[in-house]
Amino acid sequence: MHRLAAAATVLILAWGTNARAGDDTIFQYSTLDALSAGVFDGQMSFGELARHGDLGLGTFNALDGEMVAFDGAFWRITHDGTVHAVGPEELTPFAAVTPFAADAAFTLEGGLDLPGLSALLDSRLVDRNTPVAIRIDGVFAELTIRAPARQEKPYVGLIEALASQNTWQHQDIAGTMVGFWFPAWMGTINAPVWHLHFLSADRTVGGHVLAAQTGQADVQLDRSPDMNLVLPRTQAFADAVIGE
Ligand SMILES: [Zn+2]
Repeated sequence: MHRLAAAATVLILAWGTNARAGDDTIFQYSTLDALSAGVFDGQMSFGELARHGDLGLGTFNALDGEMVAFDGAFWRITHDGTVHAVGPEELTPFAAVTPFAADAAFTLEGGLDLPGLSALLDSRLVDRNTPVAIRIDGVFAELTIRAPARQEKPYVGLIEALASQNTWQHQDIAGTMVGFWFPAWMGTINAPVWHLHFLSADRTVGGHVLAAQTGQADVQLDRSPDMNLVLPRTQAFADAVIGE
């Protein structure tokens, strides 16, 4: 997939990054369990994050939106459903990115719901112990997506914070899903399921994918055995009761 790698490199350079296409490293800031415990502020800028990858997902300080990134562009979907380009100075408490270079690709059949899609993707895993990055481009017959509400301190845990999320349903919508699959043994670090964020082709709609019905779409997978995990150097992280 040299053509894809070259295209990614060009777009990454627009942001002055030195991430290497073809590198199989997932760069992650903080952990799922820390986010679950309410560590909603971080010191990682998107400018720094973009140096380590051109595709990924995450959130923003104060849990202020869903982040989706591909082709080196980073997007924020806020609680009101609007889509914003992310500036390099903005900060994240939790995000994962990788220099995406597909090592497997196939066309998706239509009519799969999210459990069906997950089962199909599971069947394409080389093994069940190595993380995988994913990109799906196409049309989705049905799509349910969400974005969280900006949180105020003192922060509650993630599940409580998501009680005020907004959800939206769309039909026959074209766009891109990106995300990761992590093995169960990494479940405290990141979500051990197919975790997907969506952005529409016209860049007006997006969010964390809750449900879907597939249409015609192309899937690319990037098996990623290397991981660069950076923990927050914040008092909130140091003091948080994580994973208990
Ligand atoms: Zn998500």
